[in-house]
Order: sequence, then C-alpha cells, then structure tokens
Amino acid sequence: MDYQQLIEEVYQEVQEENLKGKVADYIPEIATVDPNQFGIALVDIKGNVFGVGDHQKPFSIQSISKVHTLTMVFNFFNSKLWTRVNVEPSGDPFNSIAQLEYEKGIPRNPFINAGALVITDALCSKFEKPIEQVSAFINELAGETCVMVNNDVKNSEMDHGERNTALAYFLKSFKNFNNPIDQVLEVYFSHCAMEMSCVDLAKSFSFLANDGYSIFADRQVLTESQSRRVNALMLTCGFYDEAGEFAYKVGLPGKSGVGGGVAAVMPHKFSIAVWSPELNEKGNSVKAIRALELLTDKLSFSLF
Ligand code: GLU
Repeated sequence: MDYQQLIEEVYQEVQEENLKGKVADYIPEIATVDPNQFGIALVDIKGNVFGVGDHQKPFSIQSISKVHTLTMVFNFFNSKLWTRVNVEPSGDPFNSIAQLEYEKGIPRNPFINAGALVITDALCSKFEKPIEQVSAFINELAGETCVMVNNDVKNSEMDHGERNTALAYFLKSFKNFNNPIDQVLEVYFSHCAMEMSCVDLAKSFSFLANDGYSIFADRQVLTESQSRRVNALMLTCGFYDEAGEFAYKVGLPGKSGVGGGVAAVMPHKFSIAVWSPELNEKGNSVKAIRALELLTDKLSFSLF
C-alpha cells in the first residue's frame, strides 16, 4: 500500500468537494483560526511518516487530549476507573448535563465533557504537576518535544467555561469529584488547549495501533488488553452524538476535537491524524470526517 499516494488522493478529492462548516466560536480564541487549513498525516506500524497539506502546522487538539489523559489514569486505576465513569455511548452532545442527574453523577463515558472532567480529577489525584506531566507524556509518545499549551486558548475557555464549571459542581454534588474544582478545571482547559501538528498527533496515537506498544517511546504504554479497550471506547464514544455515524461510514476507533482535529487508528496497520477547523453541527470536522471516509473506502483492508 502506497500510503503517501493514498493520502494525497484523498486530500485532493476532499478539496475538490469544497465542503463547508463552521469554526467553533464558543471558544473565542479558536474562532480566529484560518478556516481553510487542511492537513493529513499517517504513521504506519513501523513508524514511517506520510503527510500532505498543513500536516506540520500545530493546532488546538482540544478533546483529542482526552485519549492521552485517559491513558495516563487507566494505567493507575485500571478497571476501578469504571466505578466513576461508564463506558456507554451517550447519544447526547459533548457538553450535555442531562444524563448526569438520572445516572447519579456517573458520566456515560470518559470522552464526553463530564466524563473527561472525572478523568482529569483522577489525574490530579495521582500526578503532582498534571499539566507538565501530560505534556511530557505526549512528547514521549510522539518521540519529540512538540506540545505547547496555548495560554490564550486556555484563558479564553476559562472565561467562557460556565458549562464545564456547572458539570464539575454537579459531579461534586454526587461526590464523584475529589480535588478542588478550580484546579481540575485549569488542568482540563490546559490539556484541551495543547497544540501539536497532525504528524505528532498521529505519532502519539501509534501505540493504540500497536497493542499498546509505542515505537517512539520505545515502551509498552498500555497492556494489550487496555489498548483494545481504549480503542473500543473510541469506536463507540469518540465522536459524541455522531459516534454511530462515524463507525458506520469510517469504521475506525478515533477521537475528534472542536479544534477540527481527528485522530484515528487502524489496529496493526497505522494511526492517522486529520485536521481542518470547520465543524458540522455535531462539533466534528467536516473535511476530516470526509477524508477518513474516502480513505477507508479506498483501502483493501478494514477493521471488520
Ligand atoms: N475544551 C472543549 C470543551 O470542553 C473541548 C470540546 C471538544 O473538543 O469536543 O468544551
């Protein structure tokens, strides 16, 4: 399989379709990015890197960082984590508060905001300098120093963080929150405000295509069984209330972010990151989703 030719073809075809969406504007600092950017990077199982378009340009990874933080705490808490967060798709928007009440403060999964806040709370319980340690972890997975926290994005989100703050207080009222709310929110907004390129993002996801072993960090990051579980969660919950559609059209475990990025894995073959800032009404990148749909259509193998 000539991956470089494949992603160039996909890139070209998506550009010709002239798809339109809307840059996330509820985080004012993200609303200022150039909407026309588009990049794809693919990293095969041997660590070879292929790229096209704006694949080397850092962007705000937002919710994709929830996969990195989940990986960090999964290592410590293992299945005990699932007493605090469920592993069910939500069918609701990413920032929904609705289910929290009748599910008694146990979020549906670790990728909706409520679940990710619980994961960040667990992170704060185990790591003394969580922000630095998340950055160091992602750098290690990518095999180079590549992550930067964009403080303007972080502060912009903190200034408009009423919804996430409400979620945190709600979780605390159900005693599913152990650390000071302000501290956890700051760590959460910081890891969402991390910036990196498609190339580094795809490298940082490579261990999930490789049964938990990172070729770039040169170590087993998760056990094989844990790695499969993170992939199962991404397949069922990685795209909020569009998870079913993504599984149907693309059929890969993946995670999106409102910065317009999507990272996905084809187990035992490759990891891939696609970025383009314009989003559909579900908060997922229009071009990134289309690119992955075309790409998996063109492949001679699939997950299923
Ligand atoms: N920082 C964003 C929020 O909490 C992340 C949302 C996303 O990327 O889906 O609203």
